[in-house]
Amino acid sequence: MGSHEGRTYVVTGAASGIGAATAAALAAAGARVIAADLAWEAAPRAGEVEPAFLDVADADAWVALADRLAAAGGGPALDGLVNAAGITRRARLQDVTADDFAQAFAVNATGPALGIRALAPLMPGGASIVNVGSAAGATAHYGIAYGASKWALRGITKSAAMELGPRGIRVNLVSPGFIETPMTASAPEAFRAANLEATPLGRPGSAEEVAAVIVHLLSPEAGFVTGTEIAVDGGLTGHGGGLPIARAMGAAHPDE
Ligand code: NAP
Repeated sequence: MGSHEGRTYVVTGAASGIGAATAAALAAAGARVIAADLAWEAAPRAGEVEPAFLDVADADAWVALADRLAAAGGGPALDGLVNAAGITRRARLQDVTADDFAQAFAVNATGPALGIRALAPLMPGGASIVNVGSAAGATAHYGIAYGASKWALRGITKSAAMELGPRGIRVNLVSPGFIETPMTASAPEAFRAANLEATPLGRPGSAEEVAAVIVHLLSPEAGFVTGTEIAVDGGLTGHGGGLPIARAMGAAHPDE
């Protein structure tokens, strides 16, 4: 944790959930955190960080943020970016609209790409970018527009890692499973129950558990990790459908 002393990060979606936990963890580790979100009124942790209004879907807003940081910093001064802002869209295939796709992609995929484009020029070698994907971007997902936008973010992550690698900037993806945040609090109870049923660890994750992995990827200790993905999902995607089969086969050990 000490390796973040004196470093500066931008975190999006920082007023809530995983973004807020990441911003708080970085601040606790000694970093300066520019905490970007749409609104700050309800943010529980504002005060430890520097709140900034940012709509991640707005390309001009990213350029304005980059200009502000460049003017204040006197040169490349940004050690990393966390793209945690996200929106869910839960429509099924038969009901999904073009707007569902447009909105999910604008915030969950295009937004992170615009942010990387605007802020990477401020980053020196050794900087690190973390995009927050989803288990929905690793498997089929009932909310088709949301899932597709997170699949797109995987591609953006790998392309950005390729493009920025020669400058010594790393780009990775963290893919949460079912995490207790305001986003999942708005989901139907059946969604929660089905997720826990499909999760080998049998419990939801916390925003702090996701933040800890993000903070590690931002640190120099993860210096040779780029263009890859880490699931923080309690085993949800790892079993690939094997869990119900294992359950059907009964206990793994004869004495259980
Ligand atoms: P959350 O509590 O809803 O936080 C997301 C934050 O992003 C909110 O403060 C939201 O603001 C903000 N935001 C939305 N649109 C934005 C925009 N255009 N510009 C800037 N900020 C915007 O959700 P979370 O659960 O922490 O999710 C964080 C990330 O993890 C998301 O990318 C999500 O897809 C991903 N994820 C979450 C889970 C989970 O189980 N919670 C699982 C997999 C992936 P408003 O509240 O004002 O909209």
